[in-house]
Amino acid sequence: MMLTADQLEIRGLARDFAQGEIAPHVEAWDAAAALPDTLFGSLAELGFLGMLVPEAYGGLALDMGSYLVVIEELARADAATALSVAIQNGPVAGALLAHGSEAQKERWLPALASGEVLGAFALSEEGAGSDAGAVETAARRDDGGWILTGRKKWVTNGARAGLVLVFARTGAPGELGCFLVPTDTDGYTVGPRTTTMGLRASETVDVVLDDVRLPDDALLGEVGRGLSVALDALTVGRIGIASQAVGIGAAALEHAVRYAREREQFGRSLSEFGAIQAKLADMASRVSAARATVREVGALVQAVRDGSSHDGRGAESLVARVAGAKLVASEVAMFASDEAVQIFGGYGYMRDYPVEKLMRDAKGTEIYEGTSEIMRVVIAREIQRTADGR
Ligand SMILES: Cc1cc2nc3c(=O)[nH]c(=O)nc-3n(C[C@H](O)[C@H](O)[C@H](O)COP(=O)(O)OP(=O)(O)OC[C@H]3O[C@@H](n4cnc5c(N)ncnc54)[C@H](O)[C@@H]3O)c2cc1C
Repeated sequence: MMLTADQLEIRGLARDFAQGEIAPHVEAWDAAAALPDTLFGSLAELGFLGMLVPEAYGGLALDMGSYLVVIEELARADAATALSVAIQNGPVAGALLAHGSEAQKERWLPALASGEVLGAFALSEEGAGSDAGAVETAARRDDGGWILTGRKKWVTNGARAGLVLVFARTGAPGELGCFLVPTDTDGYTVGPRTTTMGLRASETVDVVLDDVRLPDDALLGEVGRGLSVALDALTVGRIGIASQAVGIGAAALEHAVRYAREREQFGRSLSEFGAIQAKLADMASRVSAARATVREVGALVQAVRDGSSHDGRGAESLVARVAGAKLVASEVAMFASDEAVQIFGGYGYMRDYPVEKLMRDAKGTEIYEGTSEIMRVVIAREIQRTADGR
């Protein structure tokens, strides 16, 4: 799918920023396990913290294709930066746009878009990962408002966030509510940072809610319908993660091509060996196929957001199409980064070279916002549904 002139322009902007301001520091940020405050200031100035937010709320109002191109470019430089940005724009702003009342949108979207507030999405718990309906964090009614109690696991952006979307049980198992929780509310605390395999500069923290008292209008969407809020949020979220994965795969390919041309063994550059050429060809064709899939599905997400019909199969099929894009792209990222490490040989295994980080980062894309196994469950369910003519 060809990029439009506008999409090429925003890609140029994102690429210049990512290669100039992010790439030179990635090794240091990974080692320090932290992204600098100044990075978020620059991302805010570029408008990258409110890419899908309408202009009326101070956002860039980008189309989905442009948004995905920016995420890919950020991830080509640093997947941790891309993850923070994708959470802000995807599940957080996405859920507010899809389910927020006008007052909720006015309160939060301008703050998110300007970067004044960073957002986080807290669904997972110790006993509720893939099975999101098993959430045990409780929301109980009190004096016209809500009181939340529980513990959330592995919240990306959690310590830096000013707003967290917390999913809590409002009734029977699986009956959830989605709550807009300002992080300066009494009873809200953040646990220590988790040490992760990859994406080490990204904040992954547990969040504790100890009798967090919220007003009635903190509820986003309807009582008991939190799972469908989560699913809508994850639809925008997962296509962003798919684009993040394409960026990781593209970076792996670029490093591998460069290294194969520079490194000589047996008196020839590695790129002259058929075995290496075959690896590069497989990496290049799979990355480009994943990118094409992500762009096509991104266009479908846009069409549904616009309220126009996309492929005539309804919003339900979109969830499966997005799952397919995430599944394919994350597995390509894993494949390409693994092959890049192999092409670098022993150097590929060393921290001093860039490709082992790509492999560590790629693994995350097969897990967060729904594992590859769950993506397959979603896709298989859709195949059965359409085969049954439902
Ligand atoms: C770096 C990172 C950042 C994260 N950020 C966030 C965040 O910001 N917010 C948030 O809410 N969560 C976040 N998570 C949590 C993430 O979404 C969960 O880890 C993920 O959904 C899987 O849940 P789990 O780890 O409990 O695995 P489990 O659900 O216990 O799954 C374990 C294994 O069993 C498989 N499995 C489970 N059920 C089935 C099934 N029905 N059929 C087939 N296989 C199945 C899984 O695919 C997996 O391989 C993050 C995780 C990581 C690693």
